Amino acid sequence: MEKLTNYIDGELTPPQNKSYIDNYSPTTGKVYSLIPNSDERDVDDAVRAAKKAFNTWGKSTKEYRYNWMMALADAVEKNTRDLIVAESFDNGKPEWLAETVDIPRCVSNIRFFATAILHFDSKSHDMDGAALNYTLKQPIGVAGCISPWNLPLYLLTWKIAPAIAVGNTVVAKPSEITPYTAFLFSQICKEIDFPKGVINIVHGYGKKAGEAIVKKSDVVSFTGGTETGKIIAKFAASQFKKYSLELGGKNPMVIFKDCDLNLAVKTAVKAAFLNQGQICLCGSRIFVEKSLYSKFKESFLKRTKALNVGDPKNKNSDLGAIVSKQHLENILSKIEMAEKNGGEIIFGGEKVVLDGKLSTGYYMLPTIIENTKNTDEINQKEVFGPVVTILPFSSEKEIINLCNDVKYGLSATIFSNNISKAHRIAAAIDAGVIWINTWLLRDLRIPFGGMKHSGFGREGGEHSLNFFTETKNVCIKIENGGNK
Ligand code: NDP
Repeated sequence: MEKLTNYIDGELTPPQNKSYIDNYSPTTGKVYSLIPNSDERDVDDAVRAAKKAFNTWGKSTKEYRYNWMMALADAVEKNTRDLIVAESFDNGKPEWLAETVDIPRCVSNIRFFATAILHFDSKSHDMDGAALNYTLKQPIGVAGCISPWNLPLYLLTWKIAPAIAVGNTVVAKPSEITPYTAFLFSQICKEIDFPKGVINIVHGYGKKAGEAIVKKSDVVSFTGGTETGKIIAKFAASQFKKYSLELGGKNPMVIFKDCDLNLAVKTAVKAAFLNQGQICLCGSRIFVEKSLYSKFKESFLKRTKALNVGDPKNKNSDLGAIVSKQHLENILSKIEMAEKNGGEIIFGGEKVVLDGKLSTGYYMLPTIIENTKNTDEINQKEVFGPVVTILPFSSEKEIINLCNDVKYGLSATIFSNNISKAHRIAAAIDAGVIWINTWLLRDLRIPFGGMKHSGFGREGGEHSLNFFTETKNVCIKIENGGNK
């Protein structure tokens, strides 16, 4: 059985304790590789290497870092096919999705921040000639980057790239549920002889390796669940360390009667079920204006029934496997609970058994639930699977209350051809990211992140670059200066 390794100080190294965790492919439900069950000692080694590398990388020129990052992006791009196949097998997502979203986005994350650093500037404040203040943006040190399993390499590089672009070095931990592409990424770094110690990857459990990274790094960037975010915030705050948290969501899709119905239905299906509904931005509560409700429901149901759950290798599979057995069971139990509370499952709600080797994989039907209340658990807690509820609403006031009556505030989507109304609603909804007449349209420069229990801080463009730097003001008194 293949044993994955950590990547520390430029070397592919086994965990010191020689202990490993089984790595399952959700497509077959079988173990296919072993992951280092790293502990504090491996994290110590990685932090030591990162600190040493910071002495040179942190003082290098922007052009030097740009050149290395562009070389890394090129090398990742050359390995696109292997990465696509690995991401799909490790996570369960269809290969076409890894091909169109995950792996190209990983390459563009690296290129985007490599070029962004060449244009990163800072302000100066002139005190009418008597003094001049200028702002320095300096790297912080060792960045701890912790990412989840739903978009494994995409989210890992979304953190690593800005951190190293501004001159930090990194100790990163992918989710132990989907470690494989991070391992391939570390092999690529090694192959191109990426400067030693700048990127370190330590595999293992969050409770052990993850917590050690949070404690020992100088700045922490985390994407994952809200409960884990709370633990990380406590640690980081007690050490007065900068941290950013991208957490869960319970995102509303608001469908007004004056929308383009065809576009709204098509987009709502995608927003509900892409990546098996395992995207933090998925629209999991669909609110439809009363007079459009039946028409929308009929069309949404028809499109959902036409989705194929199948072999992730097959181009016609709309949904692949759920990421793990435990997660599949969790999703099904939340559906059962919704039903007990009076919800009506109008489609799905059950496992799918595929043929042959895939018969032991973790597949389920996309699921639509009706007759729920916004206060029900199914509408208050994140399911993070292919499950949506549809609920009617009657007025602008009511829909704003419904959208906001959850602890989360990550994203929201509005469908309406009345742009003034859409603006009013967008301004009133508690969410960091709002789409009007579209979903998941991303510009890497925008501030990305959530409000309330969905997170703290923003990522993207200058927001990431600012996060990974310390801001320092320098004030120079100018002798005999000053406007008369
Ligand atoms: P988790 O919070 O369980 O895990 C995320 C990462 O944190 C994993 O690498 C995990 O390791 C690690 N971790 C767990 N416990 C600790 C700890 N105590 N200290 C340090 N690290 C720890 O989330 P999931 O992986 O289950 O991901 C799903 C969640 O991520 C959903 O809630 C989803 O909404 C959210 N998400 C948010 C996004 C956003 O941008 N807002 C984007 C994508 C996902 P291990 O796997 O070993 O537990």
